[in-house]
Amino acid sequence: MAGTVLVTGGTGYIGGEVIDRLLARGYTVHTTVRDAAKSEPKLRGRWPDAGERLKVFSADLLSDDGWAEANAGCDAVAHVASPFPLDVPKNADDLIIPARDGTLRALEFAHKAGVKRFVQTSSAAAIAYGHPDKDHFDYTDWTDLTANPPPYIQSKTVAERAARDWVAQNAPDMVFCSINPVAVFGPVYDDDMSTSVELVKKVIDGSIPLIPDMGICVTDVRDAGEAHVRAIEAPAETVRGERFPTSEKFLWIREMADIIRTRVPEHAGKVPKRAMPDWLVRVLALFMSEMKQIKGELGNVRDVSGQHTEERLGFTFIPAEKTLEDTVRSLVEKEIVKV
Ligand code: NAP
Repeated sequence: MAGTVLVTGGTGYIGGEVIDRLLARGYTVHTTVRDAAKSEPKLRGRWPDAGERLKVFSADLLSDDGWAEANAGCDAVAHVASPFPLDVPKNADDLIIPARDGTLRALEFAHKAGVKRFVQTSSAAAIAYGHPDKDHFDYTDWTDLTANPPPYIQSKTVAERAARDWVAQNAPDMVFCSINPVAVFGPVYDDDMSTSVELVKKVIDGSIPLIPDMGICVTDVRDAGEAHVRAIEAPAETVRGERFPTSEKFLWIREMADIIRTRVPEHAGKVPKRAMPDWLVRVLALFMSEMKQIKGELGNVRDVSGQHTEERLGFTFIPAEKTLEDTVRSLVEKEIVKV
């Protein structure tokens, strides 16, 4: 069913994976970046044979410029672009406004251009926060914003809610669904990698000397990409209104360290072995913003199930062990980490 798909945020980790898969399946891909003059050479370098099947447009989430051109002639949109910074901004609106307004802008221009299907890259951030008594979640759960979660969590929740409300009111015939990945790892293309991969980088490069009592759910970038493409290709009734979490399993950071030691011992020389006491995390949190984020997660289980996605979109996720191994190998092969 090859056609033309707009992928927003083509410079990103997940956006790049979605483009990769669409081009391999014969689609023509339009992609938005903030500055085409700057980013197009890199994108052409990654897909040297794409030629006319890849078109790059400048469009910022915060401006109308370029969105009409990017959507023209598209059958579907994968709206992946959204700010995902390493640091927590002082003002939550720095993330909420581009996430929400950018999504609504992408939807409005897609609708005006006659696009029939819209896949939003949301996040498990819109599923699993603000419920202190709960540790297992699935596609039916929503983050509770009244618990005032961190800005990024707010931005993804607000953006997904806003998109669903907008579609219900303005474009009920449009086939809309969201992909809600947990923390995404896997092979990287270059050192311009996502915030999520920074965690594995820090575990193997020695910058985390002790392991905090914290865990995350793991998904593979290849599965996140595959879910987007399947959501574009599946029959309308399979995906309309759906939420598709991609999540292989929940792992404590100490388990991730053990997996890396077992599967890639040759690159695991700096992987920490000893636990960081909770009191130390709390003290360090007084003056280190990263520790502040970790403090809020100590001992928390947020196990998000991806089973619904596997069943509905018809594929099986890559085991987290392989994802972590491939992440480490790729970081070393690309000389992003020297171990
Ligand atoms: P990424 O590599 O940092 O990609 C983010 C993309 O968004 C980049 O292409 C970036 O463009 C673009 N972007 C940010 N602000 C923009 C703006 N104002 N205007 C236009 N483009 C803008 O991160 P990623 O991991 O691939 O994330 C992609 C999406 O997946 C995001 O929606 C994120 O919330 C979601 N997600 C990620 C994870 C994860 O663990 N990685 C998990 C769940 C959900 P520039 O290159 O110009 O900055």
